Amino acid sequence: MVKMNFDTAAKYSGIEPGLLEVIKACNSLLRVNFPLHRDNGTTEVIRGYRAQHSHHRLPCKGGIRFSDEVDLQEVEALASLMTYKCAIVDVPYGGAKGGIAIDPKKYSKHELEMITRRYTMELKKYGFIGPGVDVPAPDVGTGAREMSWIKDTYTMLYGMDDVSASACVTGKPLSQGGIQGRTEATGLGLYYATRDFLNDAEFCKQIGITTGVAGKTVIVQGFGNVGSYAAKYFHEHGAKVVGVVEYNGAVWNSNGLDVEALTSHKAKAGTLLGFSGAQRELPGDKAMSLIEEKCDILVPAALEKQINKHNAGRIQAKIITEGANGPTTPKAEEILNAKGAVVLPDMLINAGGVTVSYFEWLKNLQHVRFGRMTRKWEERSKMVVLDQMNILGAKISEKDKKLMMHGPSERDIVYSGLEDTMATAVNETLTTMRVYNVQPRIGAFINALKKIENCYKDAGLTLG
Ligand code: NAD
Repeated sequence: MVKMNFDTAAKYSGIEPGLLEVIKACNSLLRVNFPLHRDNGTTEVIRGYRAQHSHHRLPCKGGIRFSDEVDLQEVEALASLMTYKCAIVDVPYGGAKGGIAIDPKKYSKHELEMITRRYTMELKKYGFIGPGVDVPAPDVGTGAREMSWIKDTYTMLYGMDDVSASACVTGKPLSQGGIQGRTEATGLGLYYATRDFLNDAEFCKQIGITTGVAGKTVIVQGFGNVGSYAAKYFHEHGAKVVGVVEYNGAVWNSNGLDVEALTSHKAKAGTLLGFSGAQRELPGDKAMSLIEEKCDILVPAALEKQINKHNAGRIQAKIITEGANGPTTPKAEEILNAKGAVVLPDMLINAGGVTVSYFEWLKNLQHVRFGRMTRKWEERSKMVVLDQMNILGAKISEKDKKLMMHGPSERDIVYSGLEDTMATAVNETLTTMRVYNVQPRIGAFINALKKIENCYKDAGLTLG
């Protein structure tokens, strides 16, 4: 799917064919087999991968997934997607991706820790990890816990004389050098980017929808990290989240679901079913059909290829905004476009995660939390201005003064950096869409290719 979209965008880009081949090729691939002593005394071979798609910018960056479906081809494709995603949001990295071919549910916490630590050692042995080389992050089946094990292994074994060693991985817990705002970053970035498309009058006119988020109806598929935060921000900004779909059940309320209450319900019950705020619910085997209900915005935030040639014809949403990686097949997108619907592409829409990972990496390199050196100074500066305004008769209450004068926290700075990044990327995509008269995916892809081309052109190609 990535290569098909690459080829379409390449035709518009005007980039010389030889350089396109350079951009397309995966630079380095690693496959390792290592032993695991299981808790029950047996020994097993574990298979791990890492692909560094592009070294045009360093370090490389991309998640690590634990899934028994991981193979070399998948890791390679996902690594290339990361190269284009980083270019779209001006995050100065090459793309990478890693994976271990296990079902994490079948291993104990101790076994997972042993696997993660040994995988880190293998990565280091072959030059596939390091703050300036390759910086992993969480992906399907991994989270802050695994990133913490990676950081600990790397810093303890190889980073004793490197003050920036903790920048070898992102998505860490706060106590290990993580950053405020990373957890919600992808869902929040999805919301910012979709909102910015909806605020563009010409874009809305073309697909026959009114501008703005308020009042829009939304269906979310996959109520995990990305889906639940995306739903939360749409809900908080006046949209109606009418449907939420999980693999084991779906819920519906035409007046809008209370997203916070639904999140608490799912955390307690382990399923969406039985939620008191739903007008209607569908059991597991029927749940998926809910994505075909009438709505303005559909957010696929679960797995790949969920919208395909079999169901695309029945999807009624005007905007499909991709939280997951690769949820819409090219054939499905063709069917949707023919009906006048538009797909906002994963490599732009879910780039909030890697953007805030980049902020975490910067924080680790500068060894200080964002805002720490300036927060009080900003408060004092604003206080002076507000006092002067009061002297001049503005009559600002103490309560309002407190609200206005506060300096930014790390979270404030992360959110504003993310909002600005998504706004810039959406604007660039809209401009390119209009220049070439193409869909958002191809517009975003053309931008990525041109930025990478520029980078290669300015640097030149190193020869032997
Ligand atoms: P997650 O595991 O937190 O959530 C996924 C949710 O989807 C889970 O609640 C799961 O039960 C549900 N699900 C699984 N199969 C389903 C099905 N058939 N129908 C409906 N729901 C189903 O994972 P996540 O981090 O939210 O990632 C979701 C997607 O977003 C993945 O494709 C991932 O690669 C992509 N993504 C995530 C991030 C991030 O920062 N987390 C960043 C970029 C892209």
